Amino acid sequence: MGLTQESIPLKNLINLAGKGAIVTGGAMGIGLAISYRLAEAGARVLIADINASEAQKASAKLKYYGYSAQFLKCDVTQEEDVKNMVTDAVSKLGSIDILVNNAGVYPRKPLDEMTGEDFERVILVNLMGTFLCSRYTIRDMIEKRQGGCIINIASIEAVHPSSTGMSAYDASKGGVLMLTKSMARELGPHSIRVNAIAPGSIKTQGILSHMGGAQEKSQLKELKSFISRIALGRMGDADDIARVALFLASDLAGYITGDLIVVDGGYLVS
Ligand code: NAP
Repeated sequence: MGLTQESIPLKNLINLAGKGAIVTGGAMGIGLAISYRLAEAGARVLIADINASEAQKASAKLKYYGYSAQFLKCDVTQEEDVKNMVTDAVSKLGSIDILVNNAGVYPRKPLDEMTGEDFERVILVNLMGTFLCSRYTIRDMIEKRQGGCIINIASIEAVHPSSTGMSAYDASKGGVLMLTKSMARELGPHSIRVNAIAPGSIKTQGILSHMGGAQEKSQLKELKSFISRIALGRMGDADDIARVALFLASDLAGYITGDLIVVDGGYLVS
């Protein structure tokens, strides 16, 4: 389309009024920032998190700002939990138009200390959880015939291992990337767009405890060395990711599917 007076106004393209959105792991960090931006754009947001008390606080925060938010306790690794969460979501939200698969864990352990159970746990939360939530959500999207949008929070680790002890995590996020592409191919005919975001290092509660608060000398040194490789010279904020999620969820990204957007301040190019 050329530039015509019939072009859809920008404010309509970014408007999510009337849309229902699930954000897994939305109680804190990147998930909370995404929940906030989607709600701000008018979506009815359901925060689905294993941590019910934090999820409740998060939904109360959004409501305080006048936005539509609810919460549910859900462990994305448990198929029954996911099934029930999606059923509840349909009745609470009316429809599920947007799913953000954000729940994730990133424990660090050297290969020779990692048990099969350790490895499996990471794959279950990060990869299986993404699959399960998508698999049950697309039923509603397909039945309603209004299309939909799935955003998977991957990581730069999906394309480039940046530190040691992250083999399970890197494998899980590489899997999320390929799952994203495969789902995009299969769900395209139903007008369901599926994309992934690859955050670099983002300041969240999770990453700070992962770094042990960076109190030990060796961790501080590693953190400094990591930041020195970021072209923009700083770690990201959760909202840096949320803004891109909002873009992908909106009609601004109406012709984007099967893609990975790297949001790392230029870490990978350094
Ligand atoms: P975070 O601060 O640890 O928050 C993650 C949330 O997910 C927490 O509320 C957590 O609850 C919840 N959660 C964990 N396991 C769950 C499960 N099985 N079912 C449902 N909810 C679960 O994490 P974040 O740093 O915001 O990261 C969010 C996502 O971005 C993850 O997928 C992560 O891999 C990805 N990412 C983060 C970074 C970064 O630098 N922060 C970089 C690249 C990618 P609990 O606290 O109770 O466990």
